[in-house]
Amino acid sequence: MNALEQQLQYPFGDTLPAVGTTLEVAPGVRWLRMLLPFQLDHINLWLLRDRIDGVEGWSIVDCGITNDATRAAWEQIFADELGGLPVLRVIVTHMHPDHMGLAHWLTERWGVRLWISATDYNTARLASASTTSFGGDGTARFMASHGLIDAEAQEKIKARKNYYASMVPQVPNSFRRIFDGDRILINGNAWVCHVGYGHAPEHMSLHCEALNTLISGDMVLPRISTNVSVHEVEPESNPLRLYLDSITRMKALPAGVLVLPSHGRPFTGLHTRVDQLVAHHDERLADVISACAEAPQCAADLLMILFRRQLDLHQTTFAMGESVAHLHALWLDGKLTRRLDADGIYRFTSN
Ligand SMILES: [Zn+2]
Repeated sequence: MNALEQQLQYPFGDTLPAVGTTLEVAPGVRWLRMLLPFQLDHINLWLLRDRIDGVEGWSIVDCGITNDATRAAWEQIFADELGGLPVLRVIVTHMHPDHMGLAHWLTERWGVRLWISATDYNTARLASASTTSFGGDGTARFMASHGLIDAEAQEKIKARKNYYASMVPQVPNSFRRIFDGDRILINGNAWVCHVGYGHAPEHMSLHCEALNTLISGDMVLPRISTNVSVHEVEPESNPLRLYLDSITRMKALPAGVLVLPSHGRPFTGLHTRVDQLVAHHDERLADVISACAEAPQCAADLLMILFRRQLDLHQTTFAMGESVAHLHALWLDGKLTRRLDADGIYRFTSN
């Protein structure tokens, strides 16, 4: 555990639910984990005891990626953990593959509706049907315009055309739209939707006052900082500002709320964690300003300053998006000037 993590409290200690089993973390709220084939090797999903139109059952929050292992783990959960009751709905916090992947299979298997924000639903449909999202020529050009011109990296990014669809091969044909501030009644308790920007198009966290519990999704994680990236589809965006504003708004929730994050362990200490994340990004922004005061910098130049370790290609593409996000937060705040050099690369200078 690092020093910052020690400032948080973990009510379940080191206990983790084994794949295919669940652990109750609040009355009627069960925690399960699915494996992911990445360095970030797991995702937390949630089962909420529910009752809709008089029918007893469960709501699922987030799905895992589409693969045989995740489907098999779900089947084991259905057989052992639902007390013989059905799944009644599938709620997805946001469109990323580890959250959205099996929504098509889960909703079909149980004949139930997907609940999700409209922006994430539509973005997921486009990304699943497209051969160019999160990879391909457009991404390669965008990365090159921010200095990632290494030939091998460029070839690999161009070749990575089916990244999203490989994990989200289908998206359900219909959905129930959830809005910021909506109260979803689950087993008689209101779960209020809290929108968050900067990580996904329109991420929804869910807060239940009666259970003093927050399903934070990827907006607030206990150990790692949430990925906040500029993508080629919206090349002048300012996701870091959106993200910091969103998590700061979460401090309106009770300090003692139990936070159920999508990665890592359930914890309390929401306000502390938000302060840590804001301080982390403030430090990185100060580092970027100093570097840009010494000489013009592109996003690729800043990777070592921001991440302080060697990165593989998968990590580099995520890190590039984050590096651009830090530059844009300062550029769009008037603290940096951007210029497009003759080599086609954007470089930023301190004002
Ligand atoms: Zn995510």
